[in-house]
Amino acid sequence: MKKIIIAIDGPAASGKSSTAKLVAATLGYLHIDTGAMYRAMALKILRSKVDPNDTVKISALATRTSVRLALREGKIRVVLDGEEVSGEIRLPEVTNIVSPISTVSDVRKLMVHEQRAMGREGGIVLEGRDIGSVVFPNAELKIFMVADARERAVRRRKELGTKGVEISVEELEKEILERDRIDSGRSVSPLLKADDAIELDTTNLSIEEQVEFIVEKARKIIEQ
Ligand code: C5P
Repeated sequence: MKKIIIAIDGPAASGKSSTAKLVAATLGYLHIDTGAMYRAMALKILRSKVDPNDTVKISALATRTSVRLALREGKIRVVLDGEEVSGEIRLPEVTNIVSPISTVSDVRKLMVHEQRAMGREGGIVLEGRDIGSVVFPNAELKIFMVADARERAVRRRKELGTKGVEISVEELEKEILERDRIDSGRSVSPLLKADDAIELDTTNLSIEEQVEFIVEKARKIIEQ
């Protein structure tokens, strides 16, 4: 059976993670959340007390950093310099600085190198901002997920609520739009829809419907 690469890109909180995870589980593929890798780098910057806008210091730090995704007890864990940080990378302090850090070219080089190594054999669903445009421009299936900003903020609030983090919808919407602005405006690998990506507006779709849409497209390609 052919093992393909599925690239899922899109703005913050557009539903990529939950959908990518289920698509991968349905197809028996590996799921790679590339945002988690950038978040791990942001956590390192936070802990090192380096200014998130100091690109020179961030570049230097990136060359001395290891960010890996490891499969442990059936779950993908984010490992920063040998330490598991899967929970900590979701903290609002990390979210607030991740976009400026992701504009640094040396940070991106490090992450893209890792992502390409993980995806080489296919049988993988990668989600992020630049998967279909830069990391795997030859991916067999590319999806670009979008959703109304308010709906994205509502979803994120629910998700954070389950982790005991209380932030208002208004505040989250502001944070989401600010991240989108930086991610879309950066000169290196900006967030954009690849020409051959299929746009999927998830505003009024359930997770099951999103998964079904992608799995159906993937199966057609796999069976070709
Ligand atoms: O996907 P998530 O929202 O967790 O990503 C966090 C941040 O990581 C994004 O806002 C973006 O700045 C950065 N990112 C990126 N390229 C990717 C994935 C994430 O620049 N492929």
